[in-house]
Amino acid sequence: MTAEPVPPAGEQDGDGTVQCWCCGADDLPDRMVHLGNHPEVHLCLRCAHFVHQRASAIEDEGRSGPAVRARQILRAAREEVVRRGWHRNRFIGGRLRWLGKHLP
Ligand SMILES: [Zn+2]
Repeated sequence: MTAEPVPPAGEQDGDGTVQCWCCGADDLPDRMVHLGNHPEVHLCLRCAHFVHQRASAIEDEGRSGPAVRARQILRAAREEVVRRGWHRNRFIGGRLRWLGKHLP
């Protein structure tokens, strides 16, 4: 009995895919985001969008104004949707996920 070796995150698998360093999802290297000084690090598009949203939230922490407040309200609404699992609802989940992609 032999176990098939699993390549570490970031290394190419036999089918040419690489693993996301964040969530472990497999995809082709061209469909991943690579870090400037660490090109061996691969982020899938979902995780890259998440990192972008987190960076935007951190930037907003020291700011004020109506646009910042609007983004904070939208972030809170997104977190509530995810906490309640509405994004997985078979009736409204698809629309909520689409909306989440297009909001800041
Ligand atoms: Zn990922």
